[in-house]
Amino acid sequence: MAAVAKFPPWIRRWGLGLAVMAWANLSSLRASDLPPACPRSAAVQDRPELARLLQPSLQSPGGEADYRDQILTTVAGSPRLSHWCVWIEPGSRQQRWQPAIGAALTRWQQVLPIEQVPNPDQAQVLVLHRRPPLVHREGRQRASHGRTTLTARYVNRGGQWRLEPSLVVMVDSSQRQEAIQATALHELGHAFGLWGHSLNQGDVMAASPGARPLLQLSPRDLATLNWVYRQPTGYGRFLTAAP
Ligand SMILES: [Zn+2]
Repeated sequence: MAAVAKFPPWIRRWGLGLAVMAWANLSSLRASDLPPACPRSAAVQDRPELARLLQPSLQSPGGEADYRDQILTTVAGSPRLSHWCVWIEPGSRQQRWQPAIGAALTRWQQVLPIEQVPNPDQAQVLVLHRRPPLVHREGRQRASHGRTTLTARYVNRGGQWRLEPSLVVMVDSSQRQEAIQATALHELGHAFGLWGHSLNQGDVMAASPGARPLLQLSPRDLATLNWVYRQPTGYGRFLTAAP
C-alpha cells in the first residue's frame, strides 16, 4: 500500500508554502534561543519510596531474544526517561578513568538520547570515580568495581515539577582501562533502566562477567532495553501542581 502523507488541517488550508516558511523560521533560531535540554534544578524533593524495586508481573516472557524476565520495575513504573542528562566527575587521579567512562557513555549515546552536562544539578545520572563500599551478602563482605544506586525525586526545572529517577554510578579507577570501560558500560546499563542481570555471559548486563571485558552492547542487551522503554512509567511526567 502506498504511504499517504497526512498534513494537519492548517497546512491543507494555508498550503505547504506557509508550512515551509514556518519551518524555516523555527530552524533559523540559534541554539541559545531554544530552552536548554538539561536545565539546572531549582528545587528537589526526595521520594525514595517511589523507587522501591518490584518484581515484574510478566504476561509474556521474552524467550531467547532478551532477558526481560530478569528486569525489575519500581513502584512508580519503569525508571527511565526519554532524554537523559549525565554528569561525569572531573579530576580522577587515574588518567585512564575519564576516557574509559567517555567511551562507555558513547556506546549508550548511540542508542539513547543522552547529553553530558557540566553541572551535577543538571543531571539525573552522576558518575563518580570511587571504589564502591563493601557490602555484606550471605554472611560475607563483598567488594565490587562498580555500583549504581537508584532513588526517585521530584525536581523543579524551569518552573515545572516532574518525577525523575536519580542515579549515582560509582566506578573504581584502579582497574585497567578496558576493565573500567566494561564496568562503566554495565553500571550505566542499570542507570538507564536495566535493573536486573542477564544469565548469559555474552551480555553486558551479565550477572557474572566473563574473562574478557565486554565493550559492546549485545543484541539481547538492545532488545531488553527496547522492551524496557515500552513499559509504563510515571517518570518524566510533568505535574500540574507542586508535589
Ligand atoms: Zn550489575
